[in-house]
Amino acid sequence: MSEESGAESALPARASRRAAARGGSTRSTQPRDGESGASARGPDEIPAADAADPGEQGSAGGLGRTDVARPQRSAGHRAAGPASQQGMRRQNLALVMNALAALGPSSRAEVAERTGLTRAAVGSLVNELAAAGLTTDLGLAPSGRVGRPGTALALSEHGPAGLGLEIGVERLGACVIDLHGTVRTWVETEAPNRSRAPREVLAELSDVAAAALQHAAAQGLHPVGTVVAVPGLVDAANGAVEQAPNLGWRAVPVAQSLGQWLPAPLRPVPIELENEANLGALAELWHAPARPPDFIHISAEAGIGAALVIDGRLFRGARGFAGELGHVPVHPEGPLCSCGARGCLEQYAGEETVLRASGLADAGGDRIRLLTDQALGGNPLVLEALEEAGRALGTALSGAVNLLDPSALVLGGAYAELGEWLLPQMRRELAARVTVRPWSPDALRLSQLGRRGPLLGAATVTIRRIIEDPARYADWRKARELAAAGR
Ligand SMILES: [Zn+2]
Repeated sequence: MSEESGAESALPARASRRAAARGGSTRSTQPRDGESGASARGPDEIPAADAADPGEQGSAGGLGRTDVARPQRSAGHRAAGPASQQGMRRQNLALVMNALAALGPSSRAEVAERTGLTRAAVGSLVNELAAAGLTTDLGLAPSGRVGRPGTALALSEHGPAGLGLEIGVERLGACVIDLHGTVRTWVETEAPNRSRAPREVLAELSDVAAAALQHAAAQGLHPVGTVVAVPGLVDAANGAVEQAPNLGWRAVPVAQSLGQWLPAPLRPVPIELENEANLGALAELWHAPARPPDFIHISAEAGIGAALVIDGRLFRGARGFAGELGHVPVHPEGPLCSCGARGCLEQYAGEETVLRASGLADAGGDRIRLLTDQALGGNPLVLEALEEAGRALGTALSGAVNLLDPSALVLGGAYAELGEWLLPQMRRELAARVTVRPWSPDALRLSQLGRRGPLLGAATVTIRRIIEDPARYADWRKARELAAAGR
């Protein structure tokens, strides 16, 4: 196991391990939303799983269901209708948190200017946020740094944090992110999970999580939410993996098991599951600079997954299955796919297919790295297989572009590392097939996050929730303290 910490950027330096791609659906199912007004749950609206310890439930479930991916509303766009005082306070707290997240260390005057709130209102809201441990006073602002003299405020670097965990086909990971969105702890280990029993995998994952938590605690960070990235279909309501063909898992109660094995201080934290392709797209939305609010993120971690981000939100579809790009037909009479149909994209651009066509079907270890090395070395079989994969990807994606007209296509996950060989054919197909409104080649981009995306996204879900609804966090924290005091 390796451990990295203290990184300034949200990008851990260590390259991630290979992820396998074979068969199967990789979406997460969402139960019908019982809350009013919401027709489809947002990415980040993952319902909080039951607490591991039933005795903790009252204090553990409060951070879920927040729509954190909705773009920040500026003061000028606030709802005009009558709002309760409580609702207004909630909204204003979120405005201040968003302003601090966007501005970095700032004076109250700057926050007031950005939010359209009065300085007095900002002062009182900031007191509330500080009491909840969300902001800190940095003392007198250095002259010229934050404008007018006054004390500078910032989001807290200690205190609440987000814990992300990842169950990959060939690796396990844990990541802790602070309120600034900075990675403070990154732990990753190779793990041949495909051939292991869920119990064994989850026991090791709890060790990885414990190492990350220990390191985070030493930095004064306390994760208040856990999201687990899994390469499969998720039963979000029960915190279970419904099926993960790449792992060979069916109906595995991940949240419950982890809850039992995680170290005691973490047990009150709700543990939620989310599909890794969705988390990769969210990481792109939250961490990549200048990402447009609508794009399609294509990844190849387990099977081929796509996630649609529309207007800053993940689009899940009516039943939660949107994004099954791997099973879009490329050739109607093509090879039989694991899904039962013929000629799916996965049969041309999936990792297993590319490896087989490259004569590397039996290779172990980091197989994406192997493909990269072979391609760099000029292995003609590998180059041809990647060209074919790029062609199939471009064909399938041209349909998506013609249908949805997104601002960008982002090639993420393992594909990002193979972009050099995939992009030329993809661009050629897109140019030939997206003709009504010509497609700019620059709109097809490589993710800078690559295989780190899902874990980064998992840890960031909790942070985005706090920033978008700090009042909910403050209430949750109070309830938790009361529950602890009454014990
Ligand atoms: Zn298929």
